[in-house]
Amino acid sequence: MAKKVTIIGSGIVGICSALSLLEKGFEVEMIDRNPPAEGASSGNAGVISPWTCIPQSMPGIWKNVPKWIVDPEGPISIRPGYLLKFMPWALKFLRSGNVDRLQAIGDAMSALNRPNVDLYRCHLNGTGSEHLVSDSVYVHAYKKPAGANLSHLGWRLRQERDVPMEVVNAGELQEIEPAISKDYKAAVIIKDQARALDPGAIGKVLAEKAMSLGATFRQVTINKITPGDNGSWTLDTDQGELKAEKLIIAAGAWSARLLESLGVKVPLEAERGYHLVFQNPGVTVNNSIMDTEGKFVVSSMLAGVRCAGTAEFAGLDAEADYRRAHVFKRMVKRLLPDINIDDTKEWSGIRPSFPDSLPCIGNVPGYENLFTAFGHSHYGFGMAPNTGRVVAGVVSGEPVNIDLAPYSITRFQ
Ligand SMILES: Cc1cc2nc3c(=O)[nH]c(=O)nc-3n(C[C@H](O)[C@H](O)[C@H](O)COP(=O)(O)OP(=O)(O)OC[C@H]3O[C@@H](n4cnc5c(N)ncnc54)[C@H](O)[C@@H]3O)c2cc1C
Repeated sequence: MAKKVTIIGSGIVGICSALSLLEKGFEVEMIDRNPPAEGASSGNAGVISPWTCIPQSMPGIWKNVPKWIVDPEGPISIRPGYLLKFMPWALKFLRSGNVDRLQAIGDAMSALNRPNVDLYRCHLNGTGSEHLVSDSVYVHAYKKPAGANLSHLGWRLRQERDVPMEVVNAGELQEIEPAISKDYKAAVIIKDQARALDPGAIGKVLAEKAMSLGATFRQVTINKITPGDNGSWTLDTDQGELKAEKLIIAAGAWSARLLESLGVKVPLEAERGYHLVFQNPGVTVNNSIMDTEGKFVVSSMLAGVRCAGTAEFAGLDAEADYRRAHVFKRMVKRLLPDINIDDTKEWSGIRPSFPDSLPCIGNVPGYENLFTAFGHSHYGFGMAPNTGRVVAGVVSGEPVNIDLAPYSITRFQ
């Protein structure tokens, strides 16, 4: 059996895959055009929830889309020139929000997320950076108390999956998050989860751990992958040709491009997100807070209060539009009235999104020694450790104790 595995992409998914492969005794080579953990995996909202089971596409979501698109503070933005290209994916996205598909998608999301806090703590154990994962609840804050109603579909789906949660009133919300505006009258609190105090640092610490355990890291850009002799792979890079015995594509939003030359087509969309860090905030947020109206997440991190969100569809090669990050100044002020918004730092990164909010994990039928671990959309930071565990199991041919069908690359055919 070939014991060397090459991973294209050193975001959090590639890094966690490397750690799990090392545990199984593989020789691991990580490849990225940038240093590890500098893509979507660095700038996310840092929510690590074992309980995540609600996809982005939910029944009736289309009713909100028109008002969201025209609002500069809306959670969705579609660049006008990209609209036609975007439509086929958008239709698949809406179809995946059919009520009859939600149970299967919710189960598949749950299966990937459930062990995430424990797996992060295991990976970080002994690195000296254990503090970067902090216990947290997930505060879903509502201005109108009627919104915090557990009979609504999303909350019902969570209840069916035994998610520990409760509704709190305005007073209780103030006790949990004293910095929150009194305009917020209720919240649903999801308990027993964690948050990252610096997602990029976690990725870098774990990449260093992988290297200290024998993995190598090569900073090159992969232009193309081609099947070679005896099930091997040839990688055409900006610094010449490389060989791989077993190959995992974990290149986030760029993964579909690497598969194109093989004739493998998948509906992977580039979903750009933004964050703004308030570097001298003057207030502290104790947990991850989701502003349910504005659809953004706020969390105190090491560098300040990070406000993250927005789904901008403009294509993989479009430049970031940082006005989308700066709208968070107004939005966060409504949520945290005492926050100082003078000293900010913006960031943008691209989520790799499939219409059903599930990634592709497993082998690529018809191609020996080729595996995928990409497409984690809004949930990749939480799903990464178990994705790594699962893909390492698939590569080694061992049982993975998880139904792989929902993550199959053939599910879109
Ligand atoms: C604003 C925002 C908030 C988010 N909040 C959360 C959250 O709170 N919780 C959560 O679970 N998830 C969250 N996410 C989602 C999460 O960040 C992503 O799903 C996850 O980071 C994807 O990880 P990845 O390793 O697949 O991709 P990436 O981190 O993008 O890594 C892919 C890597 O592949 C490399 N690469 C690509 N192509 C090539 C090539 N041809 N050659 C060499 N290298 C290549 C890139 O340089 C990059 O480093 C959020 C995302 C955003 C944008």
